[in-house]
Amino acid sequence: MLVQGQTHCPACGALLEEKELPGEGITPWCPACGQYRFPAYSVAVSMIVISEATGKVLLIKQYGRDAYILVAGYVSRGEELEHAAARELREETGMTATRLRFNRTSFFEPSNTLMCNFTVWVKDDAELHTNGEVDAFAWFTPEEARENIKPNSLARRFLLAWMEETL
Ligand SMILES: [Zn+2]
Repeated sequence: MLVQGQTHCPACGALLEEKELPGEGITPWCPACGQYRFPAYSVAVSMIVISEATGKVLLIKQYGRDAYILVAGYVSRGEELEHAAARELREETGMTATRLRFNRTSFFEPSNTLMCNFTVWVKDDAELHTNGEVDAFAWFTPEEARENIKPNSLARRFLLAWMEETL
């Protein structure tokens, strides 16, 4: 069976075959290009941002949509997840991560992205200054966050899982 989600060559569109790659096992192979085609997908971090001062969770609105979501962003090639989480937090909110803990991952099919969820703590909101990518933001208690975060979203599933484990 081909690696899930990839049936055609991303370079030429030919139907991929299966071929043994020494050291890797069965790998998608493009007979037209004569090359192995490892599945391509994006990686992103999403963050449950918590103020150490208040215990509240930061939710934001983005892209003109009227729904609260978690702070998130794409990981650059060669960048560690921890670095990406701290960088995205800084870029979007101006705040410095004081502590960071990995929670879980979930593959998000619509954008072909592996979402990696972290809890990220900040000291307080003194540095908070959102950039142009953030339309609105608000701090919520975890229970309020659960009520206000976008329904049926991956962000909500991450939040619920985190609340179940830590509260
Ligand atoms: Zn090809």
